[in-house]
Amino acid sequence: MNKNRYPSVLLIYTGGTIGMIENQETGALEAFNFDQLIENVPELKRFNYSIDSYQFTPPIDSSDMEPSLWSKLVKIIYENYDKYDGFVILHGTDTMAFTASALSFMLEDLSKPVILTGSQLPIGKLRTDGKENLITAVEIAAAKNPDGTAIVPEVCIFFENHLLRGNRTTKINAENFNAFRSYNYPTLATAGIHIKYEHDKIHHPDPTKPLKPYYLYDTNVIVLTLFPGIQENIIRNILQTPGLRAVVLKTYGSGNAPQKPWFIKLLKEAKERGIVIVNISQCLTGMVEMGRYETGLHLLDAGVISGYDSTVEALITKLMFLLGHGKSDKEIRELMNQPIAGEFTKA
Ligand code: ASP
Repeated sequence: MNKNRYPSVLLIYTGGTIGMIENQETGALEAFNFDQLIENVPELKRFNYSIDSYQFTPPIDSSDMEPSLWSKLVKIIYENYDKYDGFVILHGTDTMAFTASALSFMLEDLSKPVILTGSQLPIGKLRTDGKENLITAVEIAAAKNPDGTAIVPEVCIFFENHLLRGNRTTKINAENFNAFRSYNYPTLATAGIHIKYEHDKIHHPDPTKPLKPYYLYDTNVIVLTLFPGIQENIIRNILQTPGLRAVVLKTYGSGNAPQKPWFIKLLKEAKERGIVIVNISQCLTGMVEMGRYETGLHLLDAGVISGYDSTVEALITKLMFLLGHGKSDKEIRELMNQPIAGEFTKA
């Protein structure tokens, strides 16, 4: 590692509000050219960094994000890995937490920062939050320890002064600048007058291990949210969907669900057909503990596995990732039970 050269960052612009401009006729927000983005943030040039950019053409609203584009991001990062100290991905906020989660699994043994950011107001607007988000994300992506290793060698989301572990993050606000939260894992850094890093919370990889990129996924997964009154025929139809391989079951409280015999029977039958069912709470904070109440114990007996304190985004992308790599039912159950990228807390 050359410690004397300028830090270098690759800025990958996928789209989203940060790079949008108002159509004068319709008033709708439309994506604009990345060159204009840099024009709008001349401050970036004041860093003594070498900053290159890569633009998705066309840039997308992140509601159009697809797993194939996660693979594309992995490829861009892998192919440029030795050339840059860090990567900043500009991304719409709507699905940013899904992309960050997916990348955390698809980039094994990552030892450089991959920081996703975006904004609630377009960068061309006077009160934009995009400038600060972008500038600080670039600084974090370039930040090094005295020994030359990256301070934050993780996939993270930086938004409104907070650096969060990507696969612990959820979008929680469609209006405020403070749009993201990590309910079950502490903030990795806070940007005030200085950027204060929480070194003991940040993952420390083995820097001698090379980055291992993964490109495959299987999207035969679904999120099923329970509610009082949910019907048997609807659950049966969902669980009997041809090709279905995994279900993220959003239960109540500490992982509880109705005790109705038909419900437990449908889950058991699905498990026997090889469908992986993972239990996650509808509560945003806290941990699934299926042994705590009888209503949770039934799920355990039906072969449902715990999602612990994972986010939905982390669970669904982890399942896509594991299923896409030909893992057996048994291997998937084992790997769902252990964090592979710091995505849940296991006591
Ligand atoms: N719809 C936009 C997107 O996610 C919103 C944003 O950028 O914040 O792409």
